[in-house]
Amino acid sequence: MSLISDTIVIDNTDSNRKLWCDLCEYILITYEDIQLNKKNGCCEECWLRFGESRRSEWKRGWRPDKETLERYKLERSILNIKLKDITGE
Ligand SMILES: [Zn+2]
Repeated sequence: MSLISDTIVIDNTDSNRKLWCDLCEYILITYEDIQLNKKNGCCEECWLRFGESRRSEWKRGWRPDKETLERYKLERSILNIKLKDITGE
């Protein structure tokens, strides 16, 4: 039994579905990621971090500046490495 299969959504009905977040360029994993990326152009993590508190600015096209984004992406990659250490994968 795989727990991972519970969170991955295979949607063959939409062949244009993106696999990567437009903002942080990480893979979209959960159903929420995919839905939010369709709606807002970013994954759930990015949306919670940057978009949710700025809904109206976001709609007008606001995005974090390059420096903030780079720092954020670095943070995420460090977090991923740490998770890999913990899970041993
Ligand atoms: Zn993202």
